[in-house]
Amino acid sequence: MAAKTAMMAQYQKIKDQYPDAFLFYRIGDFYELFNDDAVKGAQLLELTLTARNHNAEHPIPMCGVPHQSAQTYIDVLVDKGYKVALCEQLEDPKQAQGMVKRAVVQVITPGTQLERNSKTAKNNNYLTGLTSDGQHFGLGALDLSTGELQVCQLTATFEVLNEVANLNSKEIVVDETVPKELLTQLKQMGVMISYADKEADPIPVETSTLQTELLRQAVQVLLAYVAATQKRSLSHIQPAVQYQPSAYLKIDHNSQANLELMHNIRTGKKSGTLLGVVDDTKTAMGGRKLKQWLERPLLQRKQIEVRQTLVQELLDHYYERNELREALVSVYDLERLAGRISLGGVNGRDLIQLQTSLTQIPKIKHVLNELEQAQFQKILQRLDDCHDVQTAIQVAIVAEPPISVTDGGLIKPGYSEKLDQYRDAMQHGRQWLAELEQQERAATGINNLKIKYNRVFGYFIEISKVNLTKVPTDRYERVQTLTNAERFTTPALKEKESLILEAQEKSRTLEYDLFTKLRDQIKLEIPRVQKLAGAVSELDVLQSFATISEQHQFARPQFNDQETLQINNGRHPVVEEVLGAQQYVPNDVVMGPETAILLITGPNMSGKSTYMRQLALIVILAQVGCFVPAETATLPIFDQVFTRIGAADDLISGKSTFMVEMKEANQAIQLATRHSLILFDELGRGTSTYDGVALAQAIIEYIHNHVHAKTLFSTHYHELTDLANHLPQLQNVHVGAVEKDDQLVFLHKILPGPADKSYGINVAKLAGLPSPLLQRAQVILNQLEQEQPGVAQAANQAPASDQQLPLFEIGDQQVNPAVQQVVQQLKQLDLMAKSPLFVMQ
Ligand code: ADP
Repeated sequence: MAAKTAMMAQYQKIKDQYPDAFLFYRIGDFYELFNDDAVKGAQLLELTLTARNHNAEHPIPMCGVPHQSAQTYIDVLVDKGYKVALCEQLEDPKQAQGMVKRAVVQVITPGTQLERNSKTAKNNNYLTGLTSDGQHFGLGALDLSTGELQVCQLTATFEVLNEVANLNSKEIVVDETVPKELLTQLKQMGVMISYADKEADPIPVETSTLQTELLRQAVQVLLAYVAATQKRSLSHIQPAVQYQPSAYLKIDHNSQANLELMHNIRTGKKSGTLLGVVDDTKTAMGGRKLKQWLERPLLQRKQIEVRQTLVQELLDHYYERNELREALVSVYDLERLAGRISLGGVNGRDLIQLQTSLTQIPKIKHVLNELEQAQFQKILQRLDDCHDVQTAIQVAIVAEPPISVTDGGLIKPGYSEKLDQYRDAMQHGRQWLAELEQQERAATGINNLKIKYNRVFGYFIEISKVNLTKVPTDRYERVQTLTNAERFTTPALKEKESLILEAQEKSRTLEYDLFTKLRDQIKLEIPRVQKLAGAVSELDVLQSFATISEQHQFARPQFNDQETLQINNGRHPVVEEVLGAQQYVPNDVVMGPETAILLITGPNMSGKSTYMRQLALIVILAQVGCFVPAETATLPIFDQVFTRIGAADDLISGKSTFMVEMKEANQAIQLATRHSLILFDELGRGTSTYDGVALAQAIIEYIHNHVHAKTLFSTHYHELTDLANHLPQLQNVHVGAVEKDDQLVFLHKILPGPADKSYGINVAKLAGLPSPLLQRAQVILNQLEQEQPGVAQAANQAPASDQQLPLFEIGDQQVNPAVQQVVQQLKQLDLMAKSPLFVMQ
């Protein structure tokens, strides 16, 4: 009873230090949760809730998980946004004097959780750290699994929110300098807020290259937290690298989400995204690098062209590229292996993975030597095959080591003389015993004398009762008496027995020692492995670009400084993949230096939004250094991409669609430069028609007169097409559609000029609405058009009629006589009697 109370007192003392975490308290083979942790944990983990001290007046709620399967439970809790503090027994309970010593050895949190399966292998998990000097923010991001550490300085809070969202960070460590409102906004985004532990000594990491104290502070905040939660070796954390968000093509988070660059909006998965199309990387680190590149397309033409040249070279060398791909398949996740070596938890299999990976490097070097580009030579110089590490593992570790590092069987014969002796002793032990048995049979004349083993007595000689008289009592010592037999030992047997058992024990310990020595030796080489990983992952992305460019017939885009944008037969790579290349209608985008705005009209579902997205994706791919889905493409280099596309409402902050629309429009207008790309899809539809038209027009005018960014603006307000008359830098285009057999057929082809009508009722018909309803809608439409001739006329560019308007029927009143004549002729044509090449005079 007293012991139990003492334990709960110990528990409570530890728990008090980790009030915000589930405390997994180790008792023997189990981790136990108590009190509130148990009640909540049992529910979240679907465990049976029991109690300690059932019969007491206040039983303590309790639940537990076996320590072998604890990881799964921990992951569930952390995935749900909780922290878990692992409290271990620090001494063997059998040898402990009084209470077993316990302490928390690690706190697992959403931002420090390490990758667990192949599904997450291509994702980074960034823990971010934030601090402020009142004017600016310092933001650090650390992937604990790879040791990658980067830091940047930001000014506005929306930049911070954006960067945290883009990094997909689940947890942010802050200090008291961060304003409360910002914390609230971060929380609304679903990010866990943690506080830096002032007491903890941060891990020493190279920060000398960082320019400001603020940036160093951001790193300190981050590292103090990591030190406090991880409590173990973190030598793999790489020197802090400063980056400038403004050095990359800026794509705000909403646009990233709306354009489905990485995540499918409906499923959250990779399929159906740009990443899904262009990712043919062979290594997990290549996959992560590709994501980083897509998140940060380049701005420097030279840099982009370097990547393009490498992609071209790989594209042109099919054979070498295939060799490279084959080699990459056998390269494991060097970055995370390096991380595991440093963090502990590395096993023989990991080392073999490292070794296998390293043996691929000479092959890769060989391939690069065949390629001509000087740039490959630069990558080649970074490909240190770490031959010493490779051989160190190769001579020490067996090809297929067990998972455990403490049960032996992982060190190769010939590696340690001592180990070989122990193993020899073990392996030959049986033979010794067999020989001893023979000798003793001969010496005693007892033919059924046997040497046996059990756990209690070890090895012994068993002699049946009938033969007892022949036992040489001077040499044999009795250890046990059974009904039919007696058991003896001899000094020689004792000696051999202890040799055999000791050998087994010693060989296990020695193997573990040898393993840890090797591990520590490799630990020193981690920076080299990390550098190698960087070069390999870049190569992997480049080969992926080349491969998919070949597969999907992408073309190398050209860049110009004249603000000319000309894409011939461009495609939306994702829609094309879904529809199939035959179904997809390619489209041109032509905007000379004198064109700033394309106003796109056309029925719903005709392909306006696809056309706009297509342009954004081509721009992003181009600036990443990849080829693009088009026959040819000439592009300016854009500095930012803004989109208002789709209906991804800001559910978290509960803002209405219209508010979100206007906010996004505002951001674009305020921040865009003449080098930006703006995509506005049906802006203004979230409010009444008059409001909508008025705002849309004012926004277009503002962009036209003040911003000059290349802008694609799709609308169903046909009134807006008149703007082309006043705004010289605006051009109308529309998506073609024809009515055939009373059905609307989309051509998905972008054509010059405005659309002739909005086809709303036709689309409703396509959607299957009942025909009486559609007829009624037509009547209402006609009435509206008559009541408000201004809007109606502009909307339709054609007068009202009480019938549904077929495409070629034009009302008689307003049309000029020449047109009327043509219409008349057309009506009289007997189309069935004409050949396809018939030309009307
Ligand atoms: P809108 O924005 O005009 O309402 P979308 O761009 O959403 O229309 O396109 C509607 C559908 O039309 C898409 O889901 C796609 O299936 C098809 N589509 C769009 N563009 C094309 C194209 N160029 N070729 C073939 N099909 C297309």
